[in-house]
Amino acid sequence: MAIRVTVWNEYLHEVQSEQVTRVYPQGIHGCIRDFLEKEGFAVQTATLREPEHGLTCDVLDQTDVLIWWGHMAHEEVADEIVERVYRRVLDGMGFIVLHSGHASKIFRKLCGTDSSRLKWREDGKKEILWVVNPGHPIVSGLDEKIIVEHEEMYGEHFDIPQPDEQVFISWFEGGEVFRSGCCWRRSRGKVFYFRPGHESFPVYFQPEIQKVICNAVRWAAPQAEIPQETYGNTPPVVGRDSI
Ligand code: ZN
Repeated sequence: MAIRVTVWNEYLHEVQSEQVTRVYPQGIHGCIRDFLEKEGFAVQTATLREPEHGLTCDVLDQTDVLIWWGHMAHEEVADEIVERVYRRVLDGMGFIVLHSGHASKIFRKLCGTDSSRLKWREDGKKEILWVVNPGHPIVSGLDEKIIVEHEEMYGEHFDIPQPDEQVFISWFEGGEVFRSGCCWRRSRGKVFYFRPGHESFPVYFQPEIQKVICNAVRWAAPQAEIPQETYGNTPPVVGRDSI
């Protein structure tokens, strides 16, 4: 069965800025949906201004991996929905946070640090993402580096918990570096942060960037059936007679 992906996008820049509309006429979520569908995933989209931000319990029931892009309206995401997504991640739903989603309520909650803190500069200069974990499934089929010709700069220090696995480190023309591909596990769920994707540049149309996101969906998807654990006060499994 195909992995079921929900692409969540704030979808405000594309509506409010002609420049961004020209870059992403279908919205950032539409671009991501299209290349994921070509890869054989079952994809739906959800946006901020839909009821419950498009993230109803039914939608999340049908989601193996949730992808998140947000920037200017993080505070408009209702706490109730943040809590709902958070619970799903702990229960095993994969979660991929893109670019400025670093400052979203849900990513900050999953991190437990002030992950909104980093340096930035919208200069449209070059970024090189270096693969620092060549055996990792997220970089399967890639070269040792990805060059993005025009991007916004993000620089360290990035206030995240130490990643469980570091996949990319970026170099920027201004001299900064950044941990641009980071993996964590949170209970049964896998979380991947991937830095590229400023709304003014057509970064999500770049094949290598698409490949990373497709690989990350496969990595983050829940593996088979997760055993049903029991918690709390419990009788012994091994009886006194059988010891
Ligand atoms: Zn940006």
